[in-house]
Amino acid sequence: MTRVYNFSAGPAMLPEPVLNQARDEMLDWRGSGMCVAEMSHRGKEFMAIAAEAEADLRELLIIPEHYKVLFLQGGASLQFAMVPLNMLGDKGRADYLNTGSWSKKAIAEAKRFGEVRIAASTEASRFTCAPAQDELSLDPDAAYVHYTPNETIEGVEFPYVPETGAVPLVADMSSTILSRPIDVTRFGLIYAGAQKNIGPAGLTIVIVREDLIGKAQPFTPTMLDYKIHAENGSMYNTPPTYAWYLAGLVFKWLKGIGGLSTIAEINARKAQKLYAAIDRSSFYHNPVEPSARSWMNVPFTLAKPELDETFLKEAKAVGLTTLQGHRSVGGMRASIYNAMPEAGVDALIAFMQDFERRYG
Ligand SMILES: *Cc1c(COP(=O)(O)O)cnc(C)c1O
Repeated sequence: MTRVYNFSAGPAMLPEPVLNQARDEMLDWRGSGMCVAEMSHRGKEFMAIAAEAEADLRELLIIPEHYKVLFLQGGASLQFAMVPLNMLGDKGRADYLNTGSWSKKAIAEAKRFGEVRIAASTEASRFTCAPAQDELSLDPDAAYVHYTPNETIEGVEFPYVPETGAVPLVADMSSTILSRPIDVTRFGLIYAGAQKNIGPAGLTIVIVREDLIGKAQPFTPTMLDYKIHAENGSMYNTPPTYAWYLAGLVFKWLKGIGGLSTIAEINARKAQKLYAAIDRSSFYHNPVEPSARSWMNVPFTLAKPELDETFLKEAKAVGLTTLQGHRSVGGMRASIYNAMPEAGVDALIAFMQDFERRYG
């Protein structure tokens, strides 16, 4: 068996100890005689798995009691609709920061439900930086402020958490959650599709302050109302049980290696060495302003784009896969989420240097 270093932006690598444990427990979860995927979501075995996963996530992120954690489906993309449906309330308008491809999608969806103000945009600089706090023109009467702390496609990450006063801050943390410690109390709502840093696709996590629940528009479908999911422990209908279980194993793995401060040190080191290798070379280029460079998604271009195909082919041959950039941006992108070992980044850097020596 040969495992590759998979630089996919998502679904992404899972920690190997997690996959090994899932394999060991596949046919018989701890004497139950069942695979977790075969269990009733209301049975005591799965209820225990679900509760433990939530407790571990709460411990990792230090989530206060007055926040609910929801285990939902529909991906981050469904949250683009659920957030406005549940949070626009009587105000009917919200501020959005336009900092890349994912914010644009969130903005387009929110416009279906209410008035969207763009409180900052970095589109003029082709999404290569994060707006500074004093560049945000915030409406104190907005129902909420939405932003994307890490733009997965452009590789731009906010180096700070925006200050929004009394207006609740909503963050699409799909590609940065659990990559470092955060202060959850700065946020009204955090959401994330699981397939980058949490677990497999099919699970979406929402962390929401209790007082923001229960304000859905009257026409909101039952399944899109946070209140329904909060009141039912995310089991109004059948939740994504196996994904929830695997996410729980990932949380245990994170706790085992020392939690978010440890993974943050590793992530900072991985990103720092990859950007340093890119910056040292005149063959590779990353366009993002250094202070806003993502720890998780590192886009780069080759000085000779006609070599892109060769680069990808040769990288794949040495076990470095899924390095092609997003179709809207081109070039390459190395996604180096929590589960990408530092050795994978080292191998990528060595390959890039060798490729430059041969073709540069
Ligand atoms: C991947 C991603 C999404 C889309 O997630 P889905 O789960 O596929 O809907 C949205 N926002 C960000 C920041 C992402 O990285």
